Amino acid sequence: MRFSQDFIRKVEDATDLVGLIQDQGVALRKAGTSFKACCPFHNEKTPSFNVNPQRGFFHCFGCNVGGGAVKFLMLHERVSFVEAITELARKAGIALEGESGPRKRDDAEEGMACLKQAQTFFCQQLREPGGEEARNYLEERKVPTALQERFALGYAPDDWQGLLRHLQTRSIPNGLVVRVGLAKTSERSERPYDRFRNRLIFPIRDPRGRCIAFGGRILGAEDGPKYLNSPETDYYHKSQILYGLYEGLDSIRRSRKLLVVEGYLDVMRLHEYGIGEAVAPCGTALTPKHVQVAERYADVVTLLFDGDEAGRNAALKNARLFLASKAEAQVVTLPLGEDPDTFLLKNGAEAMRDLLADAKPLLEFLVQETLSRMPDSVQGRMRAVEELVPLLAQIPQQDRRQLTLVALADQLKVSPEVLLRKLPESLHSENENAKPIHPAHTESSRTDEWWVVQALLAQGQLWSLARQYLLPEEMQDTRLRHIYSRLMELPPDLLHPLDPSGVERQDPELHRDLAPLLAEDFLERNLESQFRWSVRRLKERSLKLRYQEKSAGLVEEDRLRAGMELRRLNAQLQQLLPQVETMQAP
Ligand SMILES: [Zn+2]
Repeated sequence: MRFSQDFIRKVEDATDLVGLIQDQGVALRKAGTSFKACCPFHNEKTPSFNVNPQRGFFHCFGCNVGGGAVKFLMLHERVSFVEAITELARKAGIALEGESGPRKRDDAEEGMACLKQAQTFFCQQLREPGGEEARNYLEERKVPTALQERFALGYAPDDWQGLLRHLQTRSIPNGLVVRVGLAKTSERSERPYDRFRNRLIFPIRDPRGRCIAFGGRILGAEDGPKYLNSPETDYYHKSQILYGLYEGLDSIRRSRKLLVVEGYLDVMRLHEYGIGEAVAPCGTALTPKHVQVAERYADVVTLLFDGDEAGRNAALKNARLFLASKAEAQVVTLPLGEDPDTFLLKNGAEAMRDLLADAKPLLEFLVQETLSRMPDSVQGRMRAVEELVPLLAQIPQQDRRQLTLVALADQLKVSPEVLLRKLPESLHSENENAKPIHPAHTESSRTDEWWVVQALLAQGQLWSLARQYLLPEEMQDTRLRHIYSRLMELPPDLLHPLDPSGVERQDPELHRDLAPLLAEDFLERNLESQFRWSVRRLKERSLKLRYQEKSAGLVEEDRLRAGMELRRLNAQLQQLLPQVETMQAP
């Protein structure tokens, strides 16, 4: 379902964010013009979760989540965008847009009901005489009944119409069964047939426990892929679903840890042995979306891999994905020839815990793996540098990049300058001016750049002045310069007035960077004059810098000429911002 920009705004504007968050059990305390609390999304003792009611924005300076009312509800109740906005609209007494709204929602519920019926059917079939082969397989693999039940395992009968016929008796139309990914339509006869036949069935559940898809393991000597998974549907987006997340939610919430493995059975076995943090991607390699999901639930993510060549390669690939993650990532490699399932059966939980306790930090793992494939020589080391430096460029946060660069240099036993020289030019200056992690959080960081950006966020009409006078290069604070230049590229209707949820759709990364600014305690008094002064000081500073650059090492005559140019530009500046001339500098 799609909602218009206006509708989303209307709903968010009508929502009392502070009330909403309090209703969800978060103890907000007033602090200045904003509210503070211990963050509901990560474990902490000192409050770093901020809510700015005027702007309808929240942000946690600890775990960096932030957004408006819709975002809060999505994260806290773990509901979809559509569900969150529907609930808020209902609360605010705003009718959903258009006629299609309610009908679409009924559709969504019908689909969920169909998936649930299918899950029940598969479970029953596992206990029927026809499910004998599947039961034998589970016995062979030593999967106890209690574990089968916890993961709601099932069996799809060896029948082209088994599920379809069953669902027909429940008045579920074939078209819906196809739409939720459980049946396919034959190209020749145009008749639908069951997608899963004679397979052991693993239901895939969303974090709320609703079955959204299935994975099926082949039985006996059948043809076809070993594992078959539901296709992408309206309910199932495989790049963001982690198998075992729902089943392990209690342990994961308690420990804020995740253990990423490869197979369904590995996940089940780890849960059986009391390691409920185990999850796996569903029939796909790990994606950046998975990383985002993981960091929402966990502060520490451990990647557990088989000890063979394929396992090491997968480990390298996935480790790179986590390099830019907010979560602390580490890697554990199993002994050669083992997977988590066989390792646990052979050695038990204690041995597994020892192995996990010995996890290698991500970076150390990457460096060691890379070095191990290179000759032990200066040339080998340089090749490792060539291979590892591009990874740095993939880390979007400059502070993180800077710290990683230093750590990487340390691991490789080279000086940071060697790595810095290999980085693309565009990333250099940022590294050299790296700022502390949360510069916007402290009073002293309220620089002219900060005021300019805050004023622009609060009063969209100031953009015309900004565009006229202030180039991004004239900002020295690299974080705010980056934000400023990316805001500049947005369509004006997102800026005037600022539309945070629109920005999020257009440029999610920018939205993330804006969140701390938007949640900050911030008074809008005298904003425009503050803005003009700040622009002017930034201009002056950049002119002075230009003069210094020009006059450095020049002969006296050239220096005089540069000085004259500076004065000329300064005079221009006075004209550019006439309003500020008549005022006292703050
Ligand atoms: Zn937090």
